[in-house]
Amino acid sequence: SDNGKTYTTGLSSKTADGNEGDTADPAETSLLIKILGKGLVNTKLSLDIQQKNPNSPLHSVKTFEALHLKPELLKGIYAMGFNTPSKIQETALPTLLADPPQNMIAQSQSGTGKTAAFVLAMLSRVNVNLNHPQVLCLSPTYELAIQTGEVAARMGQFCPEIKLRFAVRGEEVDRNKRISEHILIGTPGKMLDWGLKFRLFDMKKITVFVLDEADVMIATQGHHDQCIRIHKMLSAQCQMLFFSATYDKEVMDFARLIVTEPTIIRLMREEESLDNIKQYYVKCQNEDGKYNAIQNIYGCISIGQAIIFCHTRRTAAWLAAKMTTDCHSVAVLSGDLTVEQRLAVLDRFRSGLEKVLITTNVLSRGIDIEQVTIVVNFDLPVDVRGNADCETYLHRIGRTGRFGKSGIAINLIDGEKSMAVCKAIENHFKKEIQILNTDCADDIE
Ligand code: ADP
Repeated sequence: SDNGKTYTTGLSSKTADGNEGDTADPAETSLLIKILGKGLVNTKLSLDIQQKNPNSPLHSVKTFEALHLKPELLKGIYAMGFNTPSKIQETALPTLLADPPQNMIAQSQSGTGKTAAFVLAMLSRVNVNLNHPQVLCLSPTYELAIQTGEVAARMGQFCPEIKLRFAVRGEEVDRNKRISEHILIGTPGKMLDWGLKFRLFDMKKITVFVLDEADVMIATQGHHDQCIRIHKMLSAQCQMLFFSATYDKEVMDFARLIVTEPTIIRLMREEESLDNIKQYYVKCQNEDGKYNAIQNIYGCISIGQAIIFCHTRRTAAWLAAKMTTDCHSVAVLSGDLTVEQRLAVLDRFRSGLEKVLITTNVLSRGIDIEQVTIVVNFDLPVDVRGNADCETYLHRIGRTGRFGKSGIAINLIDGEKSMAVCKAIENHFKKEIQILNTDCADDIE
């Protein structure tokens, strides 16, 4: 019943001609960040904790030993190379593992250790003497479900008696046989088929329900309602766990439908800032003028790498072809590439094989590339009405505390309209954007 992609956001499927602005698909971005797996995001930011159930104990742990896990699970954690719990894990794990079970809503950006935390909870709650599903984990897409399952398999590598099964497209079941695996990880449609339509397991016997990537889930058509239908079948005693990278009203309304009396843990997001960034604009006559500016800039990059942002795939492709013809080696990343192709492009760029990466808005926040020192807006970011998109500008140019290094942003302006957008951005951030004459390269260095 999961017939491929049905995202409501992400214009990528509609822009085959490359003429509309290219946008990021949340599920694909999330997968990309997961696979890039640069390890744990280090953050000094504070946790915000709200206790909706006054009876639930709240404490934090500084070591995995303090959790009193089964020795096989502890061994699995260490085998993954984890030494100490991450910030969110310190507080989440005692609650996740508490008896009686506690409900939880946890929000923190990708890479902060949420998946590892709930997978540990899933594994430690399984009673291997019972041969029926006890844990359900819902993911928004096939690929994300597989990622989570792989973490579970690794963490549970010394617990061979714990059985896991994927409920995703392509997985077939014998309709006359009840499912005996302890943990089911899958997409909402398939889970509904198996649990409700074919009744291959008893929803009432589920003791842990995990809703992962809840924000991506609500951005995917149909998933919201399917999740709620599954949730309605569960027993009141089932532990409800809800994870999201973002925390806005829509996500919280969804959370409230799924989770009663939760402990809410939020890790503040590291704010991007323009503080260490020198911002410039270059006046150009037209697209060819912009190209000349790019060539001058290219000639100046002696250290580090540059990313060039274009509004559409078509412009990105045009620019890449032109630069290639002029013997510059460039990488291109746009929405028409598969996740595997994007990974390959990013891998090459990160290893320095190309100095320049040309991209569209598909390359969004969360995919930081440390050695990038120059960001060029070939087109300034605008919304569907053509107004300045300051948030996207910040994601493109801004740096978080993790990458405290300084950088340069160059905006190419080819008329009154784009000049107005540039001014709007300058006013919004109250940070000057200076004029740059690319003929004298000294200004950039
Ligand atoms: P999230 O679900 O918030 O995106 P993950 O659980 O996937 O975060 O963790 C992000 C990365 O950090 C993964 O590569 C994971 O293996 C690693 N990781 C998670 N917890 C720890 C830990 N306690 N110590 C070291 N690495 C960890």
